[in-house]
Amino acid sequence: MVEEKKTEIKKAYKIVHDRDICIGCSACASVCPKYWEMEDDGKSSIIGHEKTGNGEEEVLGSNEEALTQDYEGNLDAAESCPVNCIHIFEIDKNKEEKKIL
Ligand code: SF4
Repeated sequence: MVEEKKTEIKKAYKIVHDRDICIGCSACASVCPKYWEMEDDGKSSIIGHEKTGNGEEEVLGSNEEALTQDYEGNLDAAESCPVNCIHIFEIDKNKEEKKIL
């Protein structure tokens, strides 16, 4: 039997969650429970997030210290969100961001 190895896509990125818009459907937490959890107020949060100071906005990773693991899982979470309140930004070598979703 040939074993197929899944190659993880390595990207530098950060996640932004516009929590004001979150409707608490829990899709993100189902798709990517390593990074997403449901809170007592019925909305989701990024595990280990920081608040940006703009209302309920949460971030994980930054242009200076980008995430490098689990890109696909978080992209899946963002794609699963019915109200598009999860945003993924890729960070390039010059620490410039490009919005993917
Ligand atoms: S998928 Fe979107 S709307 Fe649903 S809980 Fe997650 S962030 Fe909120």
